[in-house]
Amino acid sequence: MKRYRGYLFDLDGTIYLGEELIPGADVAVASLRERGARVLFLSNKPIARRESYAEKLTRLGIPATVDDVVNSPLASARYLAAEHPDAQVMVLGEAALRDELTDAGVSLTEDPAQTDIVLVSWDRQITYAQFDAAHQALVGGARFFSTNPDTVCPLEGGRTVPDSGANIAYLEASTGRELEVMIGKPSPIITTMALAGIGLSARDCLMVGDRLDTDMAMGETAGLDTALVLTGVTSREQAAKSDRHPTYTLESVAELAEAL
Ligand SMILES: [Mg+2]
Repeated sequence: MKRYRGYLFDLDGTIYLGEELIPGADVAVASLRERGARVLFLSNKPIARRESYAEKLTRLGIPATVDDVVNSPLASARYLAAEHPDAQVMVLGEAALRDELTDAGVSLTEDPAQTDIVLVSWDRQITYAQFDAAHQALVGGARFFSTNPDTVCPLEGGRTVPDSGANIAYLEASTGRELEVMIGKPSPIITTMALAGIGLSARDCLMVGDRLDTDMAMGETAGLDTALVLTGVTSREQAAKSDRHPTYTLESVAELAEAL
């Protein structure tokens, strides 16, 4: 395996599963850092704060700060603040997302008549009234953005729950509109931000993740080499059948240490 100057790691299913570190992930990340590689953790999950990832990684034996984590709320906040600074944004999402947006100076609204952009995300308390308000805003001509395309989020024990992508599908069905801007993986928006964050170009970095439709797609879209790990949602059989072809397929992230 080639030595890269930077490594972008997905978290869930790649570095850990729930509360359990993937065996050897700590050693792998430590050895990459030891030889001077830049490491960044990249999560699409829009319901957790970057601080909580940094704490969790550190607790599991991978020392990390907030600046080592880029998630879809941060990418959304920076993107909206930079590209749509005057927009009134209606959010279907939780506090982790809302707080990043307001910290970045993005104006939030719940009034469909005032809404310039509907930002669809994952909200475990979502109500019919919120779907109705987003529907009215979109029918009235608001732009249609989302934090992340994941339709379900896998939980421990093989259970899955509806994620942002399910809410996008709901609103596409009710309005006949199509999502216009995706910010999280596999979008080039979050990729460009992540690469800028570590000061490296795509060809110097490896994207490591467990999902074909987001992690591997992101690498392909942005011109990064990719490593699929089989510790998360993708089995070797699914990988073999897919038309995505990662640069490397690894049993686990631990193999990165062995490859050094
Ligand atoms: Mg994952």
